[in-house]
Amino acid sequence: MSKLPKACIIGAGCSGFSTAKALQDRGIPFDIFELSDTVGGNWAYGNKNGMSACYSSLHIDTSKYRMQFEDFPIPDDYPDFPHHSQVLDYFNSYLDHFGLREKVTFNTAVTHVDRMDDGTWKVTLDRSGAGGPSQDVDYYDVLFVCNGHHWSPRWPTPAFEGDFEGIQMHAHSYLSPFEPHDFRGKNIVVVGMGNSAMDIASELSQKPIAKNLWVAARRGVYVMPKYIGGQVADKASLPTWIPLWAQRKLAAMAIKRAVGNMEDYGLPKPDHAPLEGHPSVSGEFLTRVGCGDIKMKPNIERFEGNQVRFTDGTAEDVDIIVYATGYNVEFPFFDPDFLSAKDNHLPLFKRAIRPDLPNLLFMGLAQPLPTLINFAEQQAKWLAAYLVGEYALPREAEMEAAITSDEKMYIGHFYESPRHKMQVDFNRYVNDLKKEWKKGEKRAKATGNPLPILAKAASKEAA
Ligand SMILES: Cc1cc2nc3c(=O)[nH]c(=O)nc-3n(C[C@H](O)[C@H](O)[C@H](O)COP(=O)(O)OP(=O)(O)OC[C@H]3O[C@@H](n4cnc5c(N)ncnc54)[C@H](O)[C@@H]3O)c2cc1C
Repeated sequence: MSKLPKACIIGAGCSGFSTAKALQDRGIPFDIFELSDTVGGNWAYGNKNGMSACYSSLHIDTSKYRMQFEDFPIPDDYPDFPHHSQVLDYFNSYLDHFGLREKVTFNTAVTHVDRMDDGTWKVTLDRSGAGGPSQDVDYYDVLFVCNGHHWSPRWPTPAFEGDFEGIQMHAHSYLSPFEPHDFRGKNIVVVGMGNSAMDIASELSQKPIAKNLWVAARRGVYVMPKYIGGQVADKASLPTWIPLWAQRKLAAMAIKRAVGNMEDYGLPKPDHAPLEGHPSVSGEFLTRVGCGDIKMKPNIERFEGNQVRFTDGTAEDVDIIVYATGYNVEFPFFDPDFLSAKDNHLPLFKRAIRPDLPNLLFMGLAQPLPTLINFAEQQAKWLAAYLVGEYALPREAEMEAAITSDEKMYIGHFYESPRHKMQVDFNRYVNDLKKEWKKGEKRAKATGNPLPILAKAASKEAA
């Protein structure tokens, strides 16, 4: 058998380590670099890499039934919606079970990646965190990008006019009602209505904490419960033969039945149908609004010293503004001219491959509903089959056409927003991926299962 290509995996969050597992299973050589001293990325509270958005009270919104890895069941005694510390424990058990921990090179950052003329990747590493040199170079045949996409805070642009005398912070740095600021007795505005906004507003609005808490939002959203009819809401999934539009209609009816009209709680009426925007999940938010602890405001118009003026003309004295306004997708190790995701849009074949760069593989670069945790696990199995020659990609033009039709299917019905550039339905995605995998197996077989990416990098290291 020909020599298999050598892969570099950037990052040991769940996308990175589930990729490592799939490569290990196929005997594909790899290095996995993690800039922190721990695995788990976002789910490592207080992660020394400064990239985790975990707050002390965070419980995952995806149920344990949907987030568990196909290859490693989640403990039976876990609650339906585990705490972030339990998610991290589960990740650590995964690594130990599959003997992956010793494969991770910790405290080592990938600082730059160049594509060489022969298609290999020149990877520059900063190993100083591990006591090594601050500039070291390695060459690889394949690059797996697993650096996550919930760590670079997105702020409102353009910034609101005027000067604000209080504190402004992003939800990314929120830890608890006492850190990084003491929120007790304060007048607080939370901007946004995504999942983090739901959690942070529900927590801070409790009477012993905030003096007043307003949520400012440009538009209304549907707030989905975590349970419907006593059952975990994301557990029920419809068969994939039902078209997505029909699934969405049925899901929308279920949401309406479960929570009714948002306006009846005093929330703004959404300007879209349920599931035409990324739904927000919270078991508490609607109750807090109903209790009057959370008060709604439209968007901020401008700042006037210690006052915030809203677009309806009202103004409030405010101490702290928390922007729960999402994240930018960034790859700091690429030259922006080579590759970037403008407005969070990076079209990819099956959300993993740019048709012109078949040895650059993006893992977990999606917003799958209901789970991102085990999403890369599915992608990685497919791509490992690709690297050993069991699967062959379609032609470039076919991949481009598939990207267009997939984007139409998954995001065509959403309102325009950077938040909606990478949405996929998890079940539908996996079902389609398996069909594509079967087709690619036939293509590969028809040409004698050649390796798509040749092992050239090792000779460079030796040179
Ligand atoms: C508040 C919050 C709640 C969430 N809730 C859910 C939920 O309920 N369900 C769900 O499925 N998802 C949820 N998510 C999404 C979350 O991002 C994913 O669950 C998961 O963390 C994605 O894993 P990842 O490996 O792709 O990225 P990350 O967890 O971000 O891991 C990326 C890793 O790459 C490393 N890295 C980055 N750059 C480099 C570099 N240059 N060199 C070396 N290493 C590098 C980082 O140190 C990190 O360890 C939530 C996100 C947030 C912010």
